[in-house]
Amino acid sequence: MIELKHVSKWYGPVQVLNDCSTRIEKGEVVVVCGPSGSGKSTLIKTINALEPIQQGEIWVDGKAVHDPKTDLPKLRSHVGMVFQHFELFPHLSVTENLTLAQIKVLGRNLDDAKRRGLKMLDRVGLGAHKDKFPGQLSGGQQQRVAIARALSMDPIVMLFDEPTSALDPEMVGEVLDVMVGLAGEGMTMMCVTHEMGFARKVSDRVIFMDVGGKILEDCSTREFFSQPENRQPRTKDFLNKIL
Ligand code: ADP
Ligand code: MG
Repeated sequence: MIELKHVSKWYGPVQVLNDCSTRIEKGEVVVVCGPSGSGKSTLIKTINALEPIQQGEIWVDGKAVHDPKTDLPKLRSHVGMVFQHFELFPHLSVTENLTLAQIKVLGRNLDDAKRRGLKMLDRVGLGAHKDKFPGQLSGGQQQRVAIARALSMDPIVMLFDEPTSALDPEMVGEVLDVMVGLAGEGMTMMCVTHEMGFARKVSDRVIFMDVGGKILEDCSTREFFSQPENRQPRTKDFLNKIL
């Protein structure tokens, strides 16, 4: 579903992705972790071309993201993305937030967009809040609306960038529960997160990135957690700090 081949990126003279290669199969759940500044957000943004790359290749569902001829708006419309900050439109109701991109980007009519959006809102457990504004919802609820909004676009893959790290601790679980449900339904997911409980329970693979934008480890979740002796010293340090 996703393939990165020798991807490198620089901001001016500073290299932020260094020869990154990995593959994510359909239905796989991959957790990306690593210290702050190691390029996790940049990596995930290159997958829907929110950040251009200078070297290498990125393929999503058989389409070449790195190729200037690729129809990027079309590709992006099928790559769901959920950020740390919910980025709902504050002046639009929940329903309007859910329908806007479906209408503008996918060309759906209002009725179809509402039907799809409200179905996804029910799925994240917030059907009763459809007429509220984002400011009337808790952080956890807003993040669940953001997930419902992404799902309304019928994504082929979901990218999450620290979706719970801006939340109060008591709201982390409700967002992770939605993600666990999605994974269980076979959604292809790439999640930047430091929720190691989620990683251990739900992910198939863990990618560890280190400062300088290098993928230091890319292994099965079982191996990542069960054989600490085989981890790189940098990974061990990191795990010791966050676990
Ligand atoms: P992470 O998500 O792992 O914390 P990022 O991908 O956000 O890391 O950042 C990787 C590196 O790129 C950091 O050194 C950061 O300062 C730098 N960086 C990120 N965005 C920009 C930008 N727009 N311009 C210049 N440098 C940036
Ligand atoms: Mg980040």
